[in-house]
Amino acid sequence: NTSEALARAESLIVSIPDYPKPGIVFRDIAPLLADADALRATVDGLLEPFAGTFDVVAGIEARGFLLAGAAAIAAGVGLIPIRKAGKLPRPAASVSYTLEYADAAIEMHDDIAPGTRVLLLDDVLATGGTIAAAHTLVAEVGGIVTGTAVLLELDGLGGRSAVGDDNLHSLFHV
Ligand code: AMP
Repeated sequence: NTSEALARAESLIVSIPDYPKPGIVFRDIAPLLADADALRATVDGLLEPFAGTFDVVAGIEARGFLLAGAAAIAAGVGLIPIRKAGKLPRPAASVSYTLEYADAAIEMHDDIAPGTRVLLLDDVLATGGTIAAAHTLVAEVGGIVTGTAVLLELDGLGGRSAVGDDNLHSLFHV
């Protein structure tokens, strides 16, 4: 059943202390993705609150791509990649933001139809900087973020309030 499959999926997320740097606990979703039942339950769980509310899913590079590909097929919609800076071949909007120890930028082609309803997808919500930047980016190209779904929310880092999206759904919390 669904709650058992989700509980198993959650148990397949591996925590790696001090990666990629001391003090960070990296949450590795690869074992979850590698398991057919866990992947299916996860994708269904991410989409479940948002049925009928979006026209397209947007995945954030890189692990958001993995979820977005599966979610797009499951939901019967298309997929837009939100990429790290400098990778897109055509005119793109760009939003810069600050990570813990560095600056980053994400980009998106500026050719979506005005008013396109976008469901944002990523693996982990930490400080919220990435998702907040993705909101700005979608707005800049004329889209509307109607929801945000993440696999794992790291509670206590303030990500949820940094994003400020009432329609933010986290499948798992830690
Ligand atoms: P943030 O912008 O701080 O919310 O960071 C979220 C982005 O960084 C996501 O795209 C995640 O893939 C990645 N990330 C941040 N912290 C972690 C973590 N502890 N484990 C795995 N990925 C993380």
